[in-house]
Amino acid sequence: MKRASLALSWALTVLAFGTPNSSAQERVWAGDRTINQISEHVFRWGSDGQYGAYILTNEGIILVDGHYCQSGTVEWLKDQLDRRYDVPVKYVVLSHDHQDHNCNTGLFSDTAVGVGHRNIIPHLTFEQRNSIIPAITFEDEMDLMLGGILVKLLYFGPTHSDNLIQVHIPQEGVLIAIDSAKGRNLFPDFRDMEVNNQLKVMRTLANLEDVSIVLPGHGPVTTQDAFLDHHRYLQTLKDTVLQHMADGRTLQEIKTLTEASMLEEFGDYNRIDAYLVPNIVTMWDYLYRYRESNSRITDIEAMECIEDSRQCRTSD
Ligand SMILES: [Zn+2]
Repeated sequence: MKRASLALSWALTVLAFGTPNSSAQERVWAGDRTINQISEHVFRWGSDGQYGAYILTNEGIILVDGHYCQSGTVEWLKDQLDRRYDVPVKYVVLSHDHQDHNCNTGLFSDTAVGVGHRNIIPHLTFEQRNSIIPAITFEDEMDLMLGGILVKLLYFGPTHSDNLIQVHIPQEGVLIAIDSAKGRNLFPDFRDMEVNNQLKVMRTLANLEDVSIVLPGHGPVTTQDAFLDHHRYLQTLKDTVLQHMADGRTLQEIKTLTEASMLEEFGDYNRIDAYLVPNIVTMWDYLYRYRESNSRITDIEAMECIEDSRQCRTSD
């Protein structure tokens, strides 16, 4: 029993997160680096489908995020900013701790101070991210004022990570919503997501005032509809998996049934073929930890626990 459960556990882990060697494959970088002006003071920069931003004022620059460690795009950006402007980068705002969004930001520590949510610090240090470490942190909300431009940093609780923040420039109607404005792009899985709050925050962001342009971390410039598209997918997936669990179905049954119904409704979402099963498995895992069934957990369900069957609670 134990060996079988561990084997299944491994299979689920691979299913959800890929094989250990998959990250070792060399990525070929597109080198399609761009800087685009979005509004009077807000610019978007990036390459390879991933973007940060900066706010240019006459007293300095507020940079939002880094980039992939190996893309070379942060080094390129620093050179571009030096060439284009005679004001320094004063702040580096980190949207969240994920390495692909903050790598190489330490390059700006000669003139800038890091800013982030207070929860970001233990992640950056524990994971040994190649990032600037914020000297300025906040809990719920923070106003950055530079050169007469107000930049609001907003935290709505744990969502895609426990330290993800939004960057709002109200006077220009721009919201920088890294890894929040997903639209019809899917997360590979929900590894560190607080799903229930994510649903709540998507509605909050869809209704935030003074927003006409939304800048996601990946993909084209969008609008607040991007939050609603993601909300619809996530809510449907949660409701479907939760109902199947309440009906006493096994994870295997839930995967089969949910895959069919979700593909029918959300077949046009990007990369759903690759991400739907890991989405179902990690949603199941989230809901397993969220609810307590009235009925005793079965041996089969216990075997399907992702970590180890010994960690499943039973009525014994
Ligand atoms: Zn992320």
